[in-house]
Amino acid sequence: MSAPRVTTAPRVVAVTETSPAALSGLLPGDELLSLNGRSPRDVIEYSLLVDEPDLDLLVRRRGLALPFPVTVNKEPGEPLGIEVSSAVFDRVRTCDNHCEFCFIHQLPKGMRRSLSMKDDDYRLSFLYGNFTTLTRFTEMDLERVLTERLSPLFVSIHATDPEVRADMLRNRRGATSLRWLSALLAGGIEVHGQIVVCPDRNNGAVLDDTLAGVLDRYPELATVACVPLGVSTFSHEAAMRPHTVDEAAEVCDQVERWQDVFLESIGRRMVYAADEYYLMAERPFPPGATYEGFPQHENGLGMARAFEAAFGGDEHAALGVRPGFFAAVDGAPASGYRAQRQVLRTEAASRPTDGPLERKVDGSPIAILTGEYGALVLGPLIDSLGRNDIRLVPVPNKFFGGNIGVSGLLTGTDLTTVLADQPEGHRYLLPDSCLSEGRFLDDLTLADLPRSVEVVPTDGQSLRRALEDPGPASSSSPSASNPARVPVTLGAPR
Ligand code: SF4
Repeated sequence: MSAPRVTTAPRVVAVTETSPAALSGLLPGDELLSLNGRSPRDVIEYSLLVDEPDLDLLVRRRGLALPFPVTVNKEPGEPLGIEVSSAVFDRVRTCDNHCEFCFIHQLPKGMRRSLSMKDDDYRLSFLYGNFTTLTRFTEMDLERVLTERLSPLFVSIHATDPEVRADMLRNRRGATSLRWLSALLAGGIEVHGQIVVCPDRNNGAVLDDTLAGVLDRYPELATVACVPLGVSTFSHEAAMRPHTVDEAAEVCDQVERWQDVFLESIGRRMVYAADEYYLMAERPFPPGATYEGFPQHENGLGMARAFEAAFGGDEHAALGVRPGFFAAVDGAPASGYRAQRQVLRTEAASRPTDGPLERKVDGSPIAILTGEYGALVLGPLIDSLGRNDIRLVPVPNKFFGGNIGVSGLLTGTDLTTVLADQPEGHRYLLPDSCLSEGRFLDDLTLADLPRSVEVVPTDGQSLRRALEDPGPASSSSPSASNPARVPVTLGAPR
């Protein structure tokens, strides 16, 4: 079988000054028709090609192919120094499931464009940590993953009972696609799992059955996250509803019971309940040590404990950015739910709406903008400072409504409403988790807000620094000094 047809040439969106690409004359807007005679399918192949010491690039500029190749001389492994416009140059494998709990189906019109994409592509799982159901995975994909060691991957499980899983995905292939999970684990690929727990679907006895199935059939899984479904006011699924307080407490209890079982059987806890469950159940979070290194903190598992530890000065707990293949891919673009939250020096960064914002460093009162759940986590931490110049400003999520309370799903619309009532002349700190490439979910930008805000990476250490050490007076815009590609807290559940 032939390789998938390449439909798009990688387009250069940014060139690093003095890089080999810049010295060779490559420009933003150039399309790379081939690299040493090859047209990569995705940035994974691309990154292997640009690792070569010398490159001959066929380039299309302003719609016309250049008559001669662009030759780049560089050291082996030296970054080429460009960012390309997408991660996948053939077609992103789109999702053919129809989950009742899908958050993408609960979005109103006019949202950030990348949110309308329902992908189910193992490559985006590898690159960005997106969860895949494996319903579109093939034998060729398996061969590539095993050969190229595309690890870790992130797989949606939801239920190990084939019928329950197929019903939840509304896809018959959901009954059988976990066979690929077995094959990946047998091939030594690190896989993290996720269970979106929906009341009356896969909670209670079904969740017990699923976790027993995980222990029985997939004990090599690195972690399994139990996360609650999000229900916005735009949901058309009558059967989907938020958990009650008792149901949230039941999930915490079940997961803790299963942690004991896993600990006894395989020597580690493997399964975790999302922080949201503890907030809903009004229970303290489990001790930080029980998260065993916070392997899924970016998906909201132990994020509060990691934040608290980092805020208290534990540098090892400052997990705002998880290093991984994504960070190492020369040229990989921000994409989808895991897009970089802050704008780098790219074409987009030069738009006037993304320009630097004023930072107040004169001892002005500080207001921390956060989601309603975030306020519950931050409240005790801010109180512990004993400072009366810092206040929390919880922003209710009226845009989505329903049970949406995490900071990562704050919109520019709700922030605008809240900020309009806040006094001028104060410092307003905003977690970067609600931004993707400088845009909120509703496509507004920082420049649309009625007050200047400082974007702070969503980890305890960064917040502590922002409160204590305001830094240079003009550096608070989406920062080039911290070009971290921080994953978004909540993506579309799979
Ligand atoms: S939740 Fe994920 S897997 Fe399900 S329909 Fe939506 S995008 Fe597809």
